[in-house]
Amino acid sequence: MLVNSRKMLEKAKKEKKVVYQFNINNLEWTRSILEECDRLKVPVILGASEGAIKYMGGYDVVASLCYSLITDLEIKTDVCLHLDHGSSVESCIRAIDAGFNSVMLDMSKKPLKENIELTKEVVKYAKNNNVSVEAEIGSMGSISGKGLEIGTNTNLKDCLTFVEETGIDSVAAAVGTVHGIYRGELNIDYKLIEQLYENLNVPLVLHGGSGLDSETLRKCREAGVTKININSDLQEAWSKGVRSYLEENKDVIDPRKIIGSGVAALKEMIDIKININKDGK
Ligand SMILES: [Zn+2]
Repeated sequence: MLVNSRKMLEKAKKEKKVVYQFNINNLEWTRSILEECDRLKVPVILGASEGAIKYMGGYDVVASLCYSLITDLEIKTDVCLHLDHGSSVESCIRAIDAGFNSVMLDMSKKPLKENIELTKEVVKYAKNNNVSVEAEIGSMGSISGKGLEIGTNTNLKDCLTFVEETGIDSVAAAVGTVHGIYRGELNIDYKLIEQLYENLNVPLVLHGGSGLDSETLRKCREAGVTKININSDLQEAWSKGVRSYLEENKDVIDPRKIIGSGVAALKEMIDIKININKDGK
């Protein structure tokens, strides 16, 4: 069933478990994520970035795709369709109008006051439509072709102000992770995560969960992270699967076989991620 992320995250926060946001890119990814999370009986947040939405054809296409797959595949677990890193108030409104259950507005590069004002506009529209809102504070680092860009972590005081004044449902706070796959040692501020868990009345979201091993993800969960976003790890797993299939099957031309050849690896990566909710190693 399609739902907003409020209840699933509140429950997870109480139980100190993680709900994942897995990003989608096309029909096959959406289907694989839905099937695997349904099989494992875990709720899931499907993250659609503006880039992925544009690639797939638009907000309505993405919403219809998710709604239809859930019906046709008889998906029983709770699913939330979420706009990832909305770059404007208008983009969030467009997603809500198309039927998204949750939106993220990312105004983290703006000064705090402006970030609060713009986020409040989205919250107002979202609340009237039973849609949950995530917003970001602090500046996340990122890794790309240009190398590693270190971010600035947020602090408890700003975070409290941000959550209280905006009325958001979950907060993405910079705590030391980076977007993309970073292989080196990251300086994750677990103390800050603990403080945020204890003092905020909303769940904490960890962006840039890719590239972190299961032990690190488990430590983040135990410190108090409730939602983890995974994008690059899935991309890497899927492309490895497709690449090796193509190398072994040089004559294949069936697009269903080619695109589908990454599905097993994608599902395996989902399993690895979800496993961190179990205690122990
Ligand atoms: Zn992110």
